[in-house]
Amino acid sequence: MAIASINPSTGETLKNFLALTAAQIEEKLQLAADTFRTYRQTPFAERAPMMMRAAEILETEKQAFGRIMTTEMGKPLKAAVAEAEKCAWVCRYYAENAEHHLADQIVETNARKSYVRFQPLGPVLAVMPWNFPFWQVFRFAAPALMAGNVGLLKHASNVPQCALAIEDIFARAGFPAGAFQTLLIGSDAVEGILNDDRVIAATLTGSEPAGRSVASIAGKQIKKTVLELGGSDPFIVMRSANLDEAVTTAVKARTINNGQSCIAAKRFIVAAEIYDDFERRFVSEMQALKIGDPMEESTDIGPLATPQIVKDLDEQVKRAVASGARVLTGGKRIDRPGNYFEPTVLVDVDVNAPVSCEEIFGPVAMLFRVDGIDEAIRIANATPFGLGSAAWTNDAREQQRFIEELEAGSVFINGMVASDPRLPFGGVKHSGYGRELAEFGIREFVNIKTVWIGESSQNKSETE
Ligand code: NAP
Repeated sequence: MAIASINPSTGETLKNFLALTAAQIEEKLQLAADTFRTYRQTPFAERAPMMMRAAEILETEKQAFGRIMTTEMGKPLKAAVAEAEKCAWVCRYYAENAEHHLADQIVETNARKSYVRFQPLGPVLAVMPWNFPFWQVFRFAAPALMAGNVGLLKHASNVPQCALAIEDIFARAGFPAGAFQTLLIGSDAVEGILNDDRVIAATLTGSEPAGRSVASIAGKQIKKTVLELGGSDPFIVMRSANLDEAVTTAVKARTINNGQSCIAAKRFIVAAEIYDDFERRFVSEMQALKIGDPMEESTDIGPLATPQIVKDLDEQVKRAVASGARVLTGGKRIDRPGNYFEPTVLVDVDVNAPVSCEEIFGPVAMLFRVDGIDEAIRIANATPFGLGSAAWTNDAREQQRFIEELEAGSVFINGMVASDPRLPFGGVKHSGYGRELAEFGIREFVNIKTVWIGESSQNKSETE
């Protein structure tokens, strides 16, 4: 099977790669298992400088890494360069904090001494998406490697050059061969790898169907999984919000990464008193976005990553319209080479139509008018997903209700949902389970071992 790097801006095939053969996969799995046996013994003081070196490489070469991302998946170059910088941040964060997060925890019991020790598990398979082709991988790899695990990356098939560049970064940073390996394989090869005894656990960031498949295979093998899946995040705006800030942030939150982010705001739920004003300004700011070549500094929105995403988006917009929605702006693909779609605003979407709470992966926003906080929370929670959520209000009581009642892995008040190495990231409901980042992320792939040491008098026969 061929794995291709195709420029979504032009449709041009940049490079073809051959998928690994069964023998090559076997070699890499064995190398991972062999490396783990020695790498797990390395102290934090040895791992941390290597992780710091990875951060330096990312920062020094961020322009080059940015260009690889942009040419393979179409995000604006400035965002791709910022992504490389963010990866450097997560490497530094875990280089500095892993030892503290994984230090023994003393617990007072009836034992002479009892404590919790965190130990690495082994080779972990990471199945990753193309939308943040560096960030998704580094936020798994930095904690996993600092904890003493080794990583095997099965990246999305449309970003093979990113996958190879990441492997190269860890090698150049000084990690032993086998600590982090890229497997150029299609998704059909994942099952065999998950069934292999040398692979101890898996993490998947991607769509719900992919999550179901990987989790069920791993479940049969009784292997731990972390799932970071899709979202249909609500962005709620109440009467007391600062409307200027809310509108500008709303547009950014919907269109970041060309609209292809799991935590992009997808449903805008706006209080009736300010709705008309919000709608007018939101539409006008969506229309002002500059669409074009993602390599250009001034571009806000580039192409979608694949022709299939354009097709899916077009079909979702058509379904919304068929169920009664109106298109205020945009609504169709742009007639030019590459996978371009117009920034789109839909209103009057039927809240009972499936499309109203599906994940829409592109620059298409749905606006809902609500009468008060009860209706806002009800619509916000009316989705199978539960990844992020944002609520704009300056009323302290409303803020508390959103924090308490929104069914999501995060609530951002007067802000835009974003990941941060210092804060846990993940979802509830069909958005997955487990957490990445912060101390929670590094403890996902460790054996949380209870140690209990009792008092025992010396053996009499030895002392007499
Ligand atoms: P995807 O199609 O599910 O692919 C993700 C990864 O899973 C790819 O490596 C893909 O390989 C692999 N894959 C797909 N089907 C599989 C299967 N049946 N068995 C094993 N592996 C399989 O998702 P995507 O289109 O790349 O990414 C977009 C999705 O990711 C969205 O739903 C988005 O919300 C989600 N996402 C979630 C988060 C989060 O943190 N919660 C972050 C980013 C993205 P191939 O490319 O070879 O098919």
